[in-house]
Amino acid sequence: MRLKDIKDIFHKELDSIFGANEVTSFFNILISHYLKLNRIALVLEPDLTISKDQEQPLFEALSRLKLEEPVQYIIGETEFFGLPFKVNEHTLIPRPETEELVSLVLQNVKNQNLNSKTISILDIGTGTGCIAVSLAKNLPKANVFALDVSEEALKVARQNAELSKVDVTFIEASILNIENVIQSLSMHLTTFQKFDFIVSNPPYVRNLEKIEIKNNVLKHEPHLALFVEDHNPLLFYERISDFAVNNLKTKGMLFFEINQYLGTETKQLLQEKGFTNIELKTDIFGNNRMLQGLKNF
Ligand code: GLN
Repeated sequence: MRLKDIKDIFHKELDSIFGANEVTSFFNILISHYLKLNRIALVLEPDLTISKDQEQPLFEALSRLKLEEPVQYIIGETEFFGLPFKVNEHTLIPRPETEELVSLVLQNVKNQNLNSKTISILDIGTGTGCIAVSLAKNLPKANVFALDVSEEALKVARQNAELSKVDVTFIEASILNIENVIQSLSMHLTTFQKFDFIVSNPPYVRNLEKIEIKNNVLKHEPHLALFVEDHNPLLFYERISDFAVNNLKTKGMLFFEINQYLGTETKQLLQEKGFTNIELKTDIFGNNRMLQGLKNF
């Protein structure tokens, strides 16, 4: 069949769900992944014809897209901070906002002249490992640790560390059980060390915000990684900052990705826990998205 005709079928079946531009972008991602063809292939050769075998993954992808499955899960990968990341239904798809969080941590490492020092960093709720792996890649001397409660997510994160050829120590534990975290960390460290930096993008979307969430996220991404109870939306921030108070070195720093509607509350929480030099930062979309604090005691 001609590739052009398959593209027309994609538009016919999917434009009403996603809009034509997004469908074109899906199609380009799919032909690049499955056929190693780039977007100008059809411009150069409008009658380009592909075999039945080559068609098959495209039509399979079309049925999955109709169910609003994210294209990243269909091809099983995405890009984050210039690095390739495997993804599946057990992990959130890394977001561009989170790249900004990684940049923020790297900026602070640089400001403190720690780039070539053996600092230790802990990422809590690592998912695909996107934060931990990108930090490890950019800070070759750092010791990077990453926690997640999900064994399935950790399998993906381990593959991602391998893919980017970095060393990250992954640990299965829930930050809601701090005793357990300490125990698990001790098993990986000869003398239990404190961290220079702790970073986290924990679940923060309230159930009441579900109406704003698109179907591709709501129906396919792991709710465990996304949602918190309306009556206690800062649960993870509370536990992580308690952990950070005891497990950051003096002058250590805590970094969070946050719920855009809860900037003031989350900032206040860090103040109450004794952090100083707290800064609330906006993301590319102008929303309150990141928070940093210094443990000066
Ligand atoms: N920013 C993500 C979203 O829009 C949520 C990430 C999280 O809950 N940590 O769905």
